[in-house]
Amino acid sequence: MAPAVRTRVAIVGAGPAGLFLSHLLHRDGIESIVLDNRSRQDIEKTIRAGILEHGTVDLLVETGASERVLVDGRRHDGIELQFQGAGHRIDFERLVGRSVHLYPQHEVLKDLLARRLEDGGDIRFEHEALEVLDADTDTPRVIARDVSAGGSGEQVEIVADFVIGADGSRSVTRTAVVGSMTGGYYREYPFAWFGILCEAPPSSEELIYANSEQGFALISQRSPTVQRMYLQCEPEQDPAEWSDAQIWDSLQSRVAGRTLHEGPIFQRDVLRFRSFVAHRLQKGRVFLMGDAAHTVPPTGAKGMNLAINDVRILHEGLAAFFATGSTAGVDAYEERALHRIWRAQHFSWWMTNMLHLTPDASDFDRRRQIGELESVVSSDAGSTYLAEAYTGWPYED
Ligand SMILES: Cc1cc2nc3c(=O)[nH]c(=O)nc-3n(C[C@H](O)[C@H](O)[C@H](O)COP(=O)(O)OP(=O)(O)OC[C@H]3O[C@@H](n4cnc5c(N)ncnc54)[C@H](O)[C@@H]3O)c2cc1C
Repeated sequence: MAPAVRTRVAIVGAGPAGLFLSHLLHRDGIESIVLDNRSRQDIEKTIRAGILEHGTVDLLVETGASERVLVDGRRHDGIELQFQGAGHRIDFERLVGRSVHLYPQHEVLKDLLARRLEDGGDIRFEHEALEVLDADTDTPRVIARDVSAGGSGEQVEIVADFVIGADGSRSVTRTAVVGSMTGGYYREYPFAWFGILCEAPPSSEELIYANSEQGFALISQRSPTVQRMYLQCEPEQDPAEWSDAQIWDSLQSRVAGRTLHEGPIFQRDVLRFRSFVAHRLQKGRVFLMGDAAHTVPPTGAKGMNLAINDVRILHEGLAAFFATGSTAGVDAYEERALHRIWRAQHFSWWMTNMLHLTPDASDFDRRRQIGELESVVSSDAGSTYLAEAYTGWPYED
């Protein structure tokens, strides 16, 4: 093993959470090392989240992490909910005076990586964290290995004042905090999303969330020439099994009142639905944030936004520690972060259950679901709950 490297904050994972934390720490003059097992090119190709809450956009802009979000991102002031063949607009601006931005995750990652590298940030690509040790001491450690093609395969040790697990849903850091990779509150759903990227013009100005007798569909956008769409499928579905024609027929049959613009499908994947919150987010000097701490089904578009909120809170605690030596802020992180995490868990679960068909749904269940959708679209109180949660609750402080 190479000689140990010393830093203030070791961050495992160069996703939105890890990179944004490293950026905020740099602004305070606090050094960090970020490790990721992937290359920069692979990270910049991550096709995932697209919807940024109002508060997430403000944070990225105010902290100098992204200016492009306001230029290349598209502001959306509402969504369309469809059921029983009719569309109903939820007007965020009118209901809560807030909006969201459609700005894909890989663009956020490009911005954060460019910013960190321009600022001389220490990002170790193609370095896989193997384990995190000594959480209960003042010098927790990360043992990692160089996994680059043609690399040495050498192990490196990073010793820090704090170790942050921002290593996604299969976090290895979680073992250091809760004792195992699976230690948490967990729920699995009996369906998944079949996601596609296709070359076509947009089929709608805003996102369409469609509940239909054939199952759920989401019509989303990426750019004037590339679109992202999803349809409900079995969790075990092999994405290669469906022909393009089958995918388009399924999508067209689930969306009412318009014909979707079709085009070549150049990416397809199946995304299983899970809800998870780790039993603990802190052990001594080791913390979990982002998907390492929690995952939500994508229906409410909360994952990346929650990750950014975790960073906001943990950064405050770390900045206070390095300025004053007080651990009060970092020790309050878990309780403060969980407050929003569980509200987002509820919202994501609620949107998911309201919009998808469960395989064993009875006639009663189906009629009750339509009653629920009617309640949401026919009253300002119902629509306002959705609008408030979707655009993001104001930060508690
Ligand atoms: C299809 C899809 C659609 C989504 N849509 C939305 C949406 O619209 N809005 C929204 O807010 N969220 C959405 N999400 C969720 C969002 O993408 C995640 O919540 C977000 O990526 C979490 O960021 P993170 O930084 O915590 O973790 P990640 O983005 O998973 O980053 C973790 C990083 O850690 C690295 N890593 C993992 N293990 C190791 C290791 N052992 N050593 C070193 N590095 C490691 C990985 O390579 C990765 O780069 C969606 C997710 C999916 C899959």
